Amino acid sequence: MFGNYKPLWGKRPRLKSSYDAVIIGGGLHGLATAYFLARDQGITDVAVLEKRFIGFGGAGRNTAIVRANQRTQENVPLYREALKLWPILTKELDYNLMFFNCGNLNLLHSEAAVNAARMSVATAQFHGVESHLIDAKQCREMMPALNISEDITYPIFGAMFHPPGGILRHDAVVWGLAKGASARGVDIHQQTAVTGVGVENGKIVSVETDRGKIQTPRVLLSAGGYSAGISYEMLGIKLPISVLTIQSMVTQPLKPILNHVISSGAYHVYANQTLKGEIATGAHMDPWPNYTTQTTAYYIQHQAQALAEMLPCLRGVKFMRHWAGLADMTPDMAPIMDGNDQIEGYYMNCGWGYFGFKSCAATGKYMAQFMASGNCPDMLKPFHLRRYEQHRLMGETAALMSYSPDN
Ligand SMILES: Cc1cc2nc3c(=O)[nH]c(=O)nc-3n(C[C@H](O)[C@H](O)[C@H](O)COP(=O)(O)OP(=O)(O)OC[C@H]3O[C@@H](n4cnc5c(N)ncnc54)[C@H](O)[C@@H]3O)c2cc1C
Repeated sequence: MFGNYKPLWGKRPRLKSSYDAVIIGGGLHGLATAYFLARDQGITDVAVLEKRFIGFGGAGRNTAIVRANQRTQENVPLYREALKLWPILTKELDYNLMFFNCGNLNLLHSEAAVNAARMSVATAQFHGVESHLIDAKQCREMMPALNISEDITYPIFGAMFHPPGGILRHDAVVWGLAKGASARGVDIHQQTAVTGVGVENGKIVSVETDRGKIQTPRVLLSAGGYSAGISYEMLGIKLPISVLTIQSMVTQPLKPILNHVISSGAYHVYANQTLKGEIATGAHMDPWPNYTTQTTAYYIQHQAQALAEMLPCLRGVKFMRHWAGLADMTPDMAPIMDGNDQIEGYYMNCGWGYFGFKSCAATGKYMAQFMASGNCPDMLKPFHLRRYEQHRLMGETAALMSYSPDN
């Protein structure tokens, strides 16, 4: 199958004057949708248009944490399916996505946090996803490096343990999906910015790019942090998305000490150890909306202080790299996956904030179904845009605020 693989370097594919489907953004969701359009729906005449290079957005900047213990009934099944797809995709794409099924420990620092976590555990278990509460002593048994003393800023009461979660390698996912899509006939056009979307008589007819115009009956908007701007400027559709900067960093490589992903809402920190040995760590977003990907010194200090208390063995360890990306946040911390009643052939998949890595395999599969049939699959129905004007927001925000900082 990969005999037809078109390399993504060297000569660019010719930008044809028409495609059956055009995808705006060569990030996780754009590439995954292209792959499943070709794999499951027989739509191979697809162009993925990426203004910089694949993985330029959140796709190449995230900390690659995956889990399926979200708070709400609507979210868990989607993430559960994504978790199941990683090992399958690794084989199918013939690309090592480096799925490390190490499990996630969400640390809980108060009775209130433990009670909030009970709701998530119940939701997960109802959907057949393994998740349970453990006490501080069990945390320490599972992760001897963890400081469970009472003499720290936020003593640990216990944790929500979720064995099926873990980490992957984010750039491997980008390259694996690109390879798979390309092998099935998809054209991936890097250095190709979308500058306009053509609509006639209530139907998508074309996409304008800085390399020329493309006729097409279907367009997917999956431009991460840039989606809301594109939607409004090119189609006049306002999306309830605020864009905020989120930062991450890695330490020098160490011997294995973190055998699970850990996160703490009270300390506002999460960390995992990559297969290379680095501790990859992140926190909450910068609190003001902006489009910068600059890092701040405050963040280094915050991460160092929090990690040194939670994991004292990390004192003195050096941070090696520090970067930032954009988080496209909706009011209920759940994405927007929808078509549009007024514009036939227009689809959107955005608002993934800082949690869009873990879902991309499953959303790609269902968005491809949606784009091929015009009918929204049941799995995606709860994520429609109208929920905001109908005041029917999802409950992920409360859960995230109460015990989990991130990811
Ligand atoms: C620091 C950080 C840590 C994170 N950690 C995690 C984590 O641990 N787990 C998790 O699940 N998620 C995490 N995320 C979130 C995750 O990375 C994003 O939700 C995900 O990348 C969104 O995927 P996407 O395909 O929607 O957008 P992106 O991956 O951002 O891709 C969008 C692409 O669209 C392109 N584009 C924009 N405008 C145009 C245009 N006009 N024409 C053509 N192309 C255009 C961009 O260049 C970009 O490549 C993190 C994000 C960051 C920044």
